[in-house]
Amino acid sequence: MKSAVRSRIASRVLWGDKYPAISQCIGGLVADLFGTSRNPFGNVVGQRSVIEQLKKLAASPVHAYMILGMEGVGKLAAAEGFAATLVCEDGDKPCGSCWNCEAVMDGRHPDVNVFSHEGPSWSVEQTRDIGTWSLRSPSIAKRRVLVLRDFHTAEGAAPALLKSLEEPPQSTVFIVIANSVTSPLRTIASRCVIVRMEPLSQQELVSALVADGVAEDSAHNVALVAGGSLSRARRLVSDPESLSRSNLWRSIPDRLEAKNGALVIDLTKEVLDSVERAVSVVEGRQADETKALAEARRQKSASKTDETELEKAHKRQRRKIKTDELRMGLSMMANRYLEQIRPGIEASGGSSDPRPRLGGAAVVRSVELIRETSDSLFRNPVEPLAIQALLIRLADILEDCT
Ligand SMILES: [Zn+2]
Repeated sequence: MKSAVRSRIASRVLWGDKYPAISQCIGGLVADLFGTSRNPFGNVVGQRSVIEQLKKLAASPVHAYMILGMEGVGKLAAAEGFAATLVCEDGDKPCGSCWNCEAVMDGRHPDVNVFSHEGPSWSVEQTRDIGTWSLRSPSIAKRRVLVLRDFHTAEGAAPALLKSLEEPPQSTVFIVIANSVTSPLRTIASRCVIVRMEPLSQQELVSALVADGVAEDSAHNVALVAGGSLSRARRLVSDPESLSRSNLWRSIPDRLEAKNGALVIDLTKEVLDSVERAVSVVEGRQADETKALAEARRQKSASKTDETELEKAHKRQRRKIKTDELRMGLSMMANRYLEQIRPGIEASGGSSDPRPRLGGAAVVRSVELIRETSDSLFRNPVEPLAIQALLIRLADILEDCT
């Protein structure tokens, strides 16, 4: 098994894993005596109907589920709650206090395996490794649950999962997480029970941010521009420049000019520089984590493997921030175009009223081009060319209209 496919549990064997029955017994006693049961869905913000749906689905599980929703609505937290429900052996699932529930919540259940892609997307090799995992019998629980994160990035690798997903052993359940059903993912999606998660309301975002310790005023301001995504809202809080970056993207449709190639080059550079600034904010935090781990290594409380894993996680995180930032920017641009034909649309950047320059058909074509570029970012890591090509085509539409 290649280590490229990361399983949260694979490298850890804890006391509870070796002696689950004793641990389960003690865990249950503690919970009974002190009423300390935790909620396996406790990390999901809002989404009450989705949680109810997942609890009902767990009563008679099938072989595969797909949890769909935009970035930052709590898909992984919901998947982990669902996984706990699937392996919980109490009557009222998920009980939150049995050994199985506790182990899932602590990320150390040997039969609940969470996988992420390594590079910019899932590779065929990684996807095939999942097939091997799916054949393993559960070691403690009555079923093995495989959670596959960000599977919308699978593209060409998606077919490699199909056979395993269609005919897994009876004791294996797949939970595939994706932001959207891209065309390569359609066949996989057709074999899964689909669970959709909607963007969070502004009030839900505000409550979550206030619970994080953010002042209510700031929480309201951030919730206005977070577009229903909690992860984005949290990033906005920790990155005060993000609002000006959003506004930069929003300004592009107003600044583009027909037949002005030099301007396209300048605007491409401006937005890509802003993406690099977003990544540099995270790099600062990552440097702190690396330093803390180096200290732990000196104290012998961390291993070389931990260091390698952290490096890989940081690389994934930087890639993700870059893609998220580009997709956020493109959606800001698309919103700006849409405001031209839907003046009532909620303003998401606080800029002035749109100039009515384009007709409906031109706006729709522009938004289509932006969406195509956004979808292609997983396939095409050469962002400068993709963004520049987009701006050239958007300027051409402008020329057709003048
Ligand atoms: Zn339980």
